[in-house]
Amino acid sequence: MRIDIFTLFPGMFPAYLNESMLKRAQEMGQLAVHLHNIRDYASGKHRITDEPPFGGGGGMVLKPEPIFTAVESLLSTLQSPTAAIGNPPIILMSPQGRPFTQAIAQQLSQQEHLILLCGRYEGVDERVRTHLVTDEISIGDYVLTGGELAAMVIVDAVTRLLPGVLGAEGAAETDSHATGLLEGPHYTKPADFRGWQVPATLRSGHAAKIDRWRREAALRRTWQRRPDLLLTAPLTEEDKWFLCQLAAESVGHSS
Ligand code: SAM
Repeated sequence: MRIDIFTLFPGMFPAYLNESMLKRAQEMGQLAVHLHNIRDYASGKHRITDEPPFGGGGGMVLKPEPIFTAVESLLSTLQSPTAAIGNPPIILMSPQGRPFTQAIAQQLSQQEHLILLCGRYEGVDERVRTHLVTDEISIGDYVLTGGELAAMVIVDAVTRLLPGVLGAEGAAETDSHATGLLEGPHYTKPADFRGWQVPATLRSGHAAKIDRWRREAALRRTWQRRPDLLLTAPLTEEDKWFLCQLAAESVGHSS
């Protein structure tokens, strides 16, 4: 996958991109990240990228011209007859965008190419939103100073879903949210730490029992922490029976 990131602060990215899983994904050839400084596309001696908002009010707004020029110059190289890739999604990082989820990460991981645009200050000129970007994503209901962390979150969540990136170390299919549930607890050595024991089933070596224990632990955790997820999670009859038991237990405890 190729990801192009447009930002005023490209220097914020390398530390995270060049460690651990993202470094490995790039070494494997599964990920190629291209950073573009929006300022390089601003015209004039001072390469101004932001101006005060029309109508007054505080803060600065990112001007449309450098952003359009930057993205269009990339698109013109991609749309050349020799280019291998066509029209990638152009995604604006925005607290007003659609909330980022594991399902969106999975959809984006199917793309060959993504373009991520990072806002700053009061945000970008509205004409960027209406005439350039094809999608807007928020990483949560809070406001960051810029879109760089949001872009990094998307790069990370998408990259770990690319084939071979997690290797045997992690199974993205059983992660929280991938199954519609939260994942259950994990344990490692020692089996006894300060008298706190690892559940016996996990040490039994019985694969089917371990699978069922994990499923029930995921159901229990989801029931306790995010019961809203149970409304849409795919559940078997056995799962539903287990949840009925949990419900009966909690009624028993509260009466
Ligand atoms: N004035 C804007 C508003 O109220 O919607 C917020 C601008 S914010 C200070 C500057 C930039 O940070 C935004 O343009 C966006 O790119 C990024 N940003 C801030 N919060 C974000 C979030 N929750 N998710 C994604 N991007 C965010």
